[in-house]
Amino acid sequence: MLEEYSRVYARIDIDAIKYNLESMRKNIPDGTRIMAVVKTDAYGHGATRIALSLENVDYIWGYAVATAEEAFELRDAGAIKPILVLGYTFPYAYRRMLLEGVRPSVFRMDMAQELSDCGQELVDSGELTELPCVHIAVDTGMSRIGVTPDEKGADFVSKVMNMPGIQVEGIFTHFARADEADLSNAREREKVFADFVKSVEETTGKKIPLHHCANSASIISVPESSMDMVRAGVTMYGMWPSEDVPRDIVSLKPTMELISHIVMIKEVPAGTPVSYGGTYVTDKPTKIATIPVGYGDGYPRSLSNKGYVLINGHHANIIGRVCMDQFMVDVTDIHYVLEGDEVVLLGRDKNTGEEISAELLGEMSGRFNYELTCDFNKRIPRVFVGK
Ligand SMILES: *Cc1c(COP(=O)(O)O)cnc(C)c1O
Repeated sequence: MLEEYSRVYARIDIDAIKYNLESMRKNIPDGTRIMAVVKTDAYGHGATRIALSLENVDYIWGYAVATAEEAFELRDAGAIKPILVLGYTFPYAYRRMLLEGVRPSVFRMDMAQELSDCGQELVDSGELTELPCVHIAVDTGMSRIGVTPDEKGADFVSKVMNMPGIQVEGIFTHFARADEADLSNAREREKVFADFVKSVEETTGKKIPLHHCANSASIISVPESSMDMVRAGVTMYGMWPSEDVPRDIVSLKPTMELISHIVMIKEVPAGTPVSYGGTYVTDKPTKIATIPVGYGDGYPRSLSNKGYVLINGHHANIIGRVCMDQFMVDVTDIHYVLEGDEVVLLGRDKNTGEEISAELLGEMSGRFNYELTCDFNKRIPRVFVGK
């Protein structure tokens, strides 16, 4: 390992990501494509590297991101598969999006009109040989973006389908409640979406090639909602959508480990305060190890006096407040521990196989597993293994 990764690094296992995708593929009907959701730098795992490693996987249709800039970053890195921007995009980005096969999600008339004008210009000027593709977002219960699955929404969809400068390649919705034990809401919303799309296709006499609604939770729990394509996010990264999603249907491997090294060990007497505010005071002679990671890296400050890390097969409890760049753990009971020893903040201890999962870290810090890995920021180098 390079010395520059000693302070802290996130080890990202590309083979495990592929294993997770393959596991999901086995749970959904044959021929269903998967859209790899790589927004927020692939939930903190490194979007460009991951996308490039999926370019040759045939069942991966393309990538989903949240912003035009995330899409352009993938294009700049050489990703060729289609990209869908899941949220609203502002007009400044349309020209480059359409030129580079980045599909906007459409749900506002002004937006559709502007995209169609832009598409028409690009085709007229010969810069594009085919009409650019868009996907229409339908709101079936998030109350976030999307047209409503009613007459007004149907009118919107048929208008957009008849616009001269764009083609409707896909139509999608997003479930608000597919990650619950009771799946009746998700099933009902799926039906609302399917009926809506069917009626629009009947009225216009045109088929929209890609219908998609399933996220990670639905891939596991409601695979019959897979339609033409599913959108896999958190499960790609080996994390679980919620506690209520069953763990025995799709097998997932963790894909990120967060590793650091002890930079100082000191022995202090009983009664010694530790870190800002002296919120922890030793009650016995204590051996303290300092870890050079903090909330400035995205390691949660709410782990202060609560969390633990793994060192040489043992738990070491966090004592005192997590600082911006460092925190302290109690290693009194660990007999073999030296400055420079490896510290597992997230992931598996090589000696015992014990794991601090993103879910456990979330529980200890009062945070959401999705949010945690997204928040590990650019100060943490990502080191990729596998291909
Ligand atoms: C983020 C997102 C997903 C992926 O969700 P996961 O729970 O991570 O699978 C799918 N669809 C949309 C519209 C999203 O915003």
